[in-house]
Amino acid sequence: MSEPVGIPKAIDSSGRTFTRAAIDDDPQPFDRPLRCGDCTTTVIPVRGSSRRPNSTWVAAHYRLTSRESAPHDEGCRYDFDAQTGRLYEEHRSALVRDGDTFELRLPQGDPVPDRSESEVPTSSHGRSRLTVHPRPGHHLEPTLSAATAIARLLATYENDPTAQSRFTADWNGDRIPWEDFYFDAARDAHRLARTIEQHAHPVAVSGTIKDSGSTTSGGSYSIELDTDGGVRHRPTGRWIHVRIYSTDPDLLDFQVGQRILGYGQWQTWIPDHSATNYFVRLWLNHRSAMTRIGPVRQTSRIGSSRPTQGG
Ligand SMILES: [Zn+2]
Repeated sequence: MSEPVGIPKAIDSSGRTFTRAAIDDDPQPFDRPLRCGDCTTTVIPVRGSSRRPNSTWVAAHYRLTSRESAPHDEGCRYDFDAQTGRLYEEHRSALVRDGDTFELRLPQGDPVPDRSESEVPTSSHGRSRLTVHPRPGHHLEPTLSAATAIARLLATYENDPTAQSRFTADWNGDRIPWEDFYFDAARDAHRLARTIEQHAHPVAVSGTIKDSGSTTSGGSYSIELDTDGGVRHRPTGRWIHVRIYSTDPDLLDFQVGQRILGYGQWQTWIPDHSATNYFVRLWLNHRSAMTRIGPVRQTSRIGSSRPTQGG
């Protein structure tokens, strides 16, 4: 049995909502009794602690008084076991259940060695000959929609490590911890760069499109994901750019402000001709895909052919 996943929010007797951060305050700011942040059952605040000397730190959380006699109300979004059970039922084709942990099955295959495979000859009308369907219906779609659902669930739990530890990705028999598989470009750009420098497995990167255009050399197109003000790569000090490329502009026909997920063999690239940029990039090919995962945040339309530097 895994460590129970804590409840991230609680409501006190005065009707105020508190996150887990309040639990470690001294004095604690809430009026007891507390109830679950999304249902009526009573919860107990538990301060952050190590279970045993040298064991892992368990962050502050709210817990049930009794899982058996005082469970969450039906449909509560902080009922982790019920929510993961529902997620599993909806995404069975992509998930393997092992007790209370879940493994996302990634399509098997060797890592794509470099961009050469992506640089296929283009036909006379300038479109790639590769048959790529990264929209719904693509064979990666069940994997991507399961990954997106897991990420949403974990976000509800504020990416609590205990909750993350219930999910892994399986790639060619390797069990990949969730934090080494799924990244948010705005929050995790540096960790993303470090992970793909060190590991060969494919990863999933979510983010909001902030820019698009054709490359200066022509022949390929890219979209860039927002890194929330810019992140510098350590130790080079270069700015990290998170980009998805294709030779087919139709495959990148998404709006600026659209939230997307890019899955595949992401790579790092340090261009010789630029002293300031560090690229984390994905080429769309038959082993990679890009899909919408959320609403558009702005209304401007992409499709301009403004050259992107260094691409
Ligand atoms: Zn509840």
